[in-house]
Amino acid sequence: MKKVVKFGGSSLASAEQFKKVGDIIHADDSRKYVVPSAPGKRFSEDTKVTDLLYKCYDEAVAGQKEYEKVLEEIKMRYKEIIAGLGLKLSLDKEFEVINEKFLNRAGSDYAASRGEYLNGIVMANYLGYEFIDAAKVIFFDEDGNFDAEKTDRVLSRKLEGVERAVIPGFYGVCPNGAIKTFSRGGSDVTGSIVAKAAKVDLYENWTDVSGFLTADPRIVNNPESIKIITYKELRELSYMGATVLHEDAIFPVRQEGIPINIKNTNAPEDEGTLIVGDTCRKPSHTITGIAGKKGFTAVNIEKDMMNSEIGFGRKVLQVFEDCGISFEHIPSGIDTMTVFVHQTEFEEKEQKVLSGINRLAKPDAIDLEADLALIAVVGRGMKSNHGTAAKIFEALAKSDINIKMIDQGSSELNIIIGVRNEDFEKAIRAIYEIFVFEE
Ligand code: ADP
Ligand code: ASP
Ligand code: MG
Repeated sequence: MKKVVKFGGSSLASAEQFKKVGDIIHADDSRKYVVPSAPGKRFSEDTKVTDLLYKCYDEAVAGQKEYEKVLEEIKMRYKEIIAGLGLKLSLDKEFEVINEKFLNRAGSDYAASRGEYLNGIVMANYLGYEFIDAAKVIFFDEDGNFDAEKTDRVLSRKLEGVERAVIPGFYGVCPNGAIKTFSRGGSDVTGSIVAKAAKVDLYENWTDVSGFLTADPRIVNNPESIKIITYKELRELSYMGATVLHEDAIFPVRQEGIPINIKNTNAPEDEGTLIVGDTCRKPSHTITGIAGKKGFTAVNIEKDMMNSEIGFGRKVLQVFEDCGISFEHIPSGIDTMTVFVHQTEFEEKEQKVLSGINRLAKPDAIDLEADLALIAVVGRGMKSNHGTAAKIFEALAKSDINIKMIDQGSSELNIIIGVRNEDFEKAIRAIYEIFVFEE
């Protein structure tokens, strides 16, 4: 049995947290490969080291002398951890290099990646494991996309000869030698890549909650945790804002059928959530989970007989493509089509999009509705249960919430609901109440 264990920022925020992590690793001999994040928040108003690094780099590049203070603050975070663990380790030399590279404008990705890099060095020293710099084994291509093939080839060969190692999360290297990071929360992706390359039996993802919860704990008070969830359900939920696991983290392990176990560093005995390819185990409720995001705009396009006009949809979408805007959802009717887009992305190009649609698709009318939220209600159990949409209508009507849009995916795995931003939290609570609490 072999496992990869990834620890998130809050699990490594202080020496005290590091010790819990050490105990977890030592408690199970199969925990061979460790992927650490950068030190996260120690308390709610604290700042993550990653955020300090972005700030520090911006100030250094802007020629502001204050950057040195922020760099000192970052140094202190590591010093405290090293001292608290009683290690004989100095990062002074590393910080000299970082300082120099900041002044030479090595890039904000380089800057952010140092959080994981330094924490990896500390972790390897603490455990007595080999340190493998992610810049030697995780690759991006010329276009900045993750190079799965090369990474798997190099990394699996490397790990064949190493029984135990620490590989920092979040970053890799481009063909020109520049450091590049995944998007925020990307250490989850590294963990998954390492799990695939090392052909492990389980990828344990340790965080600060006892598994994937049926709803965001910042919105619903004490939500139930999910025992078992499929990759597909999880991807829907994490894409829609359940940030426990990066939405791209399932791809590498999915190819190999390696399960992911989300566990709590502060309550290691809790079972957590098991994420699998498929399961015959019945879900506890019709829905597995709820997640959502605010900040969408709906572009409503009307034209009589739109449905029979071949190529209408293509023309509309062409305009979005030409403007470099991705869309989230496109519910449509006989004479209407609505395109949901991210408001911040859309705002600056709004007039260009409108004139483009008018020119190419010649609609009767276009109107915009801003400040909308999308909520995904997800569950493999919806297939075998009738009336899920009706129940959602009922729950939202009871709470006096106006539904702007409802769209069921053809997989019958999810229903997407559009509501106003201001109704977002209330809607999630109402749906939770009817499906989880009362079922
Ligand atoms: P880490 O630093 O360990 O990677 P994250 O902050 O990325 O941890 O993810 C864990 C956090 O995700 C939790 O503390 C919780 O606030 C938040 N969260 C949002 N939605 C959910 C959900 N459905 N289930 C569990 N946690 C959630
Ligand atoms: N430290 C990075 C972040 O804050 C990556 C991670 O934590 O996964 O986004
Ligand atoms: Mg995370």
